[in-house]
Amino acid sequence: MPKDKRLKVLFASSEVDPFSKTGGLADVAGSLPVALDKAGVDIRVITPHYKCVRAFGNEAMLADRVPVYFVKNDKFFMRDHLYADKKGDYADNLDRFSFFSRSVIEQLKELDFKPDIIHCNDWQTALVPVYLKEIYGKKDKSCQNIRTVLTIHNLGYQGVFPKQELPKTGLGWEYFTMNRLEFYDKVNILKGGLVFTDAITTVSPTYAKEIQTSEFGWGLNGLLSERRNDLFGILNGIDHDEWDPSKDKELKYHFSPVKPEGKYKDKALLQKEAGLEERRDVPLIGMISRLADQKGLDLIARIIGPLLDHDVQFILLGTGEERYHRLFEGIKKKFPRKASINLKFDEVLAKKIYAGADIFLVPSRYEPCGLSQMISLRYGTIPVVRRTGGLADTITGYDPKTTRGNGFLFETYDAWELLDAIKRAAALYKQKGLWAKLVSNAMKCDFSWDRSAGRYLELYKKLVLR
Ligand code: ADP
Repeated sequence: MPKDKRLKVLFASSEVDPFSKTGGLADVAGSLPVALDKAGVDIRVITPHYKCVRAFGNEAMLADRVPVYFVKNDKFFMRDHLYADKKGDYADNLDRFSFFSRSVIEQLKELDFKPDIIHCNDWQTALVPVYLKEIYGKKDKSCQNIRTVLTIHNLGYQGVFPKQELPKTGLGWEYFTMNRLEFYDKVNILKGGLVFTDAITTVSPTYAKEIQTSEFGWGLNGLLSERRNDLFGILNGIDHDEWDPSKDKELKYHFSPVKPEGKYKDKALLQKEAGLEERRDVPLIGMISRLADQKGLDLIARIIGPLLDHDVQFILLGTGEERYHRLFEGIKKKFPRKASINLKFDEVLAKKIYAGADIFLVPSRYEPCGLSQMISLRYGTIPVVRRTGGLADTITGYDPKTTRGNGFLFETYDAWELLDAIKRAAALYKQKGLWAKLVSNAMKCDFSWDRSAGRYLELYKKLVLR
């Protein structure tokens, strides 16, 4: 396609790996644009210039091919964290992300880049469709043809603020109505975006259905089902170059489906570093997670005692809510040789755990897509997950009759169901040949971006033709 005919997309995200990251949104924003570029889209990324971004300068590229624009505002972004510190969410988050969302549109005047689509992500950029339709589009012709996509990465975070804060958005009180931004007498930024955006996507087909129900809809299920014809579930992918056990720079030993041996050397190193007994015959169970309610940590709390009575080891990497820090500190004291507890954000250790563990836990209460189970598959680490959202779309239960499948599932959000699933995995671990087959099944799964990037491209094209 000639360069000037390529579809132009501006991808706006409040975090982008490798510049800033608190969770899966950063992985997606750092890898989907690259896949879209490869699929022929002229795409640029825009994100805040946080303190952690300083080292990268004022302009950067993703994978040497996608330009990244940073929005500067030291008062708002030159801080130690992205959204919150120990005391909780930053009090001026609505100012910060209203400013960022406005800047996404404002800077179009200066750029030599006129997007057909602005692709927004989560509440932090959900005001872009509102501003575009209701403010800029009304006075500026060049904005009228821009279409918007808003992706929900996690409906549990909607950007809800006391109504007195509405003026911070620059919107008048006529927007504080039930069919616009009002939500139980508060301001709901994500809701505003969902009302005004041209299309809504979320990060797995199952989650797209779940969020239309009262169980998973967080009060927005009515609106989402009204918009169901504009709502698409597109499974996230992972970057196969970034997550690749055959060449991962953080690993001492490399491995692949045809040469799996290195995995067990990485396991031994990890056990040593973590202060666990260096034994290949004991299943090492890993977990890497934000320590938030969503992630099923209360189930872990309930079963960790009985679990560690068995001949298994446990390694956790995570940060988040204070009460979970206390919980895991307690576990560390009680089981110093069987449990390794790492309460920090550490991308190097994460890779060592993905590679060195045998079993990987994702017992989430809900999970829009989940990347960690896909990453662990790639490293031959077998996921034990609850059947919900993207976990249900990516993990198929191991079938002893056919030896097919790539993991273990449990249905109800229940500690004993989780324990039972882990026990099934640990029992199979003892059957070396069968386990090797399962590891090979896992490593052969392909959750790279190609297919999903194609689906975004189809959607963009449809919107532009509207
Ligand atoms: P969520 O976006 O809800 O946090 P995902 O599974 O979609 O969950 O993505 C989590 C991402 O963050 C994965 O790349 C995971 O490896 C990473 N991650 C989570 N906690 C940590 C941590 N403490 N240290 C390093 N990486 C982490």
